[in-house]
Amino acid sequence: MTERTVLISGAGVAGPTLAYWLARAGFRPTVVERAAGLRSSGSPVDVRGPAARVADRMGITAKLREASTDATSLKFVDDAGRRTGRVPMSVLGSGTDIELPRTDLAAILHEAARDDAEIVFHDSITSLQQDGGGVDVTFERGAPRRFDLVIGADGLHSAVRRLAFGPETAFVEHMGVYIATLPLTEPPADRTELVMYNSPGRAVAVHPSRGHGIAAFMFRGDAVPGFDYRDTALHKRMLAEAYEGAGWRVPELLERVREADDLYFDAVSRVRMDSWHAGRIVLAGDAASSVSLFGDGSTLAMAGAYTLATELERTPDDAASAFRRYEETHRKLVEPKQRNVSTAAALLIPATRRGLAARNLGTRLVPLVSAARRLVPARAA
Ligand SMILES: Cc1cc2nc3c(=O)[nH]c(=O)nc-3n(C[C@H](O)[C@H](O)[C@H](O)COP(=O)(O)OP(=O)(O)OC[C@H]3O[C@@H](n4cnc5c(N)ncnc54)[C@H](O)[C@@H]3O)c2cc1C
Repeated sequence: MTERTVLISGAGVAGPTLAYWLARAGFRPTVVERAAGLRSSGSPVDVRGPAARVADRMGITAKLREASTDATSLKFVDDAGRRTGRVPMSVLGSGTDIELPRTDLAAILHEAARDDAEIVFHDSITSLQQDGGGVDVTFERGAPRRFDLVIGADGLHSAVRRLAFGPETAFVEHMGVYIATLPLTEPPADRTELVMYNSPGRAVAVHPSRGHGIAAFMFRGDAVPGFDYRDTALHKRMLAEAYEGAGWRVPELLERVREADDLYFDAVSRVRMDSWHAGRIVLAGDAASSVSLFGDGSTLAMAGAYTLATELERTPDDAASAFRRYEETHRKLVEPKQRNVSTAAALLIPATRRGLAARNLGTRLVPLVSAARRLVPARAA
């Protein structure tokens, strides 16, 4: 019997996790990644609960811990840099969570998968044509090829989703917030503390992301008609306007934004689709169900990839059934997270002065809530 071939678009979080598990399930995976190679640093993301269990099974937990950030608390500051609240990171998750730069997570997953998968960098799918026996694929650079199955794990702006399911506007929903990140060259003043400045409708955080910091700008804003996530000049203009008159370190950080050539900027978005599969093509990770940066996107990407590979292993000759079971199981994890996105945005970027004051007051109550929790017997909790 010949091995089934599967093409995975995207070597982020879901892509290499899929390649690793599909190779063990008897498939022959090829991964095509648009970027020219792996980079270091990147925004910190989390490996929690079901993803931590997947990481354990892959034997990569120790590597993830080595690459983890040391952030233990989140401090809120005002215009003058005075502390207005503080939350221990432990109340935001559980003790087994690992926070690490997204690109380090991708690199560790890539290292785990690369011996059993063909990985092609600097290329992208340009067309998909499926029939009863397989999928014909053309690429920007490589020669056309045919695969048994194709998986889109190519993130929020997925090419596979566009080619097989329809235009981005049909599935990607702007959450009323924009995000920009900028790597900082100097080490953070305190590598254990994430510092966040807020004024109504906007926030700036400096996150200790291993050796250096990373600045993140998050601000509320309606969808800009024709917004292009690749138009850096537009992004710089939007940031300058949104943060006019802001206090704390913001003027100095904006100065660096003006000079930057590695600014990341995008609309914070949620992806919702009625179905994640069409014939021999299926979506995973952010491409299928982005919960935006306020959800648990990296955890869901790893957990969903594992579920998809497991279901394909159960019925390798019946991909349609495997896709249906994957979707049924994984939607149970995704849907509650998608519902929480607006609450998380309201807490991180309160829109009004009153909302901001209430949030700051809430952070002062956190130690009391934690103490009360410790006093409640586990059975009653
Ligand atoms: C600023 C920011 C902060 C975040 N913070 C958190 C957080 O704190 N916690 C959390 O859990 N999640 C967070 N997330 C979300 C998390 O990063 C994503 O949910 C997660 O990375 C999704 O994994 P993925 O593999 O589906 O997609 P990605 O990790 O986005 O990977 C997609 C890959 O596909 C590649 N690609 C794109 N287009 C093509 C193409 N046409 N052809 C080939 N390859 C392509 C990309 O280069 C990339 O390597 C954050 C996201 C951002 C942007």
